[in-house]
Amino acid sequence: MLNIKIEKTKDPKVLPGTDNPLKFGTIFTDHMFIMNYESGKGWYDPRVIPYQPLNLEPSAMVFHYGQEMFEGLKAYKTDEGRTLLFRPEKNIERANKTNRRICIPEIEEEDFLQAIKTIVKVDDAWIPTKEGTSLYIRPFIIATDPFLGVRPSDRYLFIIILSPVGAYYPEGLNPVKIWIEDEYVRAVKGGIGEAKTGANYVASMKSQVKAHEEGYSQVLWLDGIERRYIEEVGAMNIFFKINGKVVTPELNGSILPGVTRDSVLCLCREWGIPTEERKISIDEIYEASQSGTLEEVWGTGTAAVISPVGQLRWEQNIMQVQDGGIGPVSQKLYDTITGIQLGRIKEEHNWTVEV
Ligand SMILES: *Cc1c(COP(=O)(O)O)cnc(C)c1O
Repeated sequence: MLNIKIEKTKDPKVLPGTDNPLKFGTIFTDHMFIMNYESGKGWYDPRVIPYQPLNLEPSAMVFHYGQEMFEGLKAYKTDEGRTLLFRPEKNIERANKTNRRICIPEIEEEDFLQAIKTIVKVDDAWIPTKEGTSLYIRPFIIATDPFLGVRPSDRYLFIIILSPVGAYYPEGLNPVKIWIEDEYVRAVKGGIGEAKTGANYVASMKSQVKAHEEGYSQVLWLDGIERRYIEEVGAMNIFFKINGKVVTPELNGSILPGVTRDSVLCLCREWGIPTEERKISIDEIYEASQSGTLEEVWGTGTAAVISPVGQLRWEQNIMQVQDGGIGPVSQKLYDTITGIQLGRIKEEHNWTVEV
């Protein structure tokens, strides 16, 4: 149990109006959670303070060697005004897995959840209620030792900030166009691909820019060695429905284990849809698209939940999925998961946690 001190802002911001589109990640709430770490002392001084800039030395290790981790989850307002988190224990478990991989000290799971619930409660008024909106929660840890040598830091800051976000697709589920990257790679086995850390994103930017220039909104990564097996998309895991079967790449060490991915696999199995987690080559996808058995493609992630894919571009080949529309399984997954998140659908998994 943390003893969290709460210092409320004396200068509250004006809440965004109901007509504000809440563009993803642009608006921040009045408060933030922060806690320090020091070797020999452990995590200490957990507190909620007004949202404000950090005061760090330019020599802080995070700026030079990238020792940082982050998580992403959401809080939802139900029709009765309750606040729900979706499977937060999965994010917390994954946070500590990331921490172990990049030598950041772990945080007690109960303390982590308590910190999330506390900051969400303090900024409860910021949780938007319009259809499709939610409060995005961004916990992260940075290394703060003022030191220009390479080793794990002895000091860290754990921070949670909050951002009200709008519907990812204000006009409904819109299929995205995806660029299959064959020049750059994101991660290799033994690397940090399965850790949620900024370094994986900086590795992906060059390709993202290239894809945007070509008119594609996201990049699909192939494996770093043979450039032949499907890994994942930018910040989403990827699913294919081929000839009645739902397939997704197995967690091989270089893919981020998404909470949405896990939820989709679980629901498909419950619905009696055959599912497989295995290696999927790009040739298999190309052949399926040529033979007309590539029925649906969708990405999964906290931000968009389900993101239907309408087109894939691989070298000079353009693969169309279902005439660019939304498939029935993608739509049912989206409706079910968002229904559970909003407390509208009863479920036995206990996937929602009340704040
Ligand atoms: C966060 C993330 C995902 C999606 O994970 P969710 O838990 O479903 O939000 C997928 N890929 C990468 C690289 C990510 O960082």
